Amino acid sequence: MDARQLEEKLRAAGYRLTPARRAVIQALGEAGRELAPREVLAAARARCPGLGRATVYRTLRLLAQLGLALPLPAPGGIRYRLLAGDLHRLVCRGCGAQLPLDLCPARGLTARLAERSGYLIAGHVLEFYGLCPDCQRRLSCVE
Ligand SMILES: [Zn+2]
Ligand SMILES: [Zn+2]
Repeated sequence: MDARQLEEKLRAAGYRLTPARRAVIQALGEAGRELAPREVLAAARARCPGLGRATVYRTLRLLAQLGLALPLPAPGGIRYRLLAGDLHRLVCRGCGAQLPLDLCPARGLTARLAERSGYLIAGHVLEFYGLCPDCQRRLSCVE
């Protein structure tokens, strides 16, 4: 799902596409990775100067609530990314390193869940978190 499709979904959900909302969506869309709220604020202000901090934070929460953005725990706080299809990865809780996974063990599960729940399932997130080899080594040196 790109920024334009997201804007259409926002409108379909009954929300006006204000310049502030558009700036936040485009900031997330262009980054192509998770952004901390203060990074979203900086990028959105480049398009829409004078944009308030509270507006940006509120917009991020709205997008998450509508399922258009995904809040992800990261070292240093929640980060956001646009929800674009499936997400599979390993994440290090120590340094934030990410390793994308190219396998999906959930294919059959999606169809079963859709059938059982009646949901129209648009995607899924499969995240394994822990400590990367570097962080494990660092920790074992401290002891
Ligand atoms: Zn690490
Ligand atoms: Zn998958």
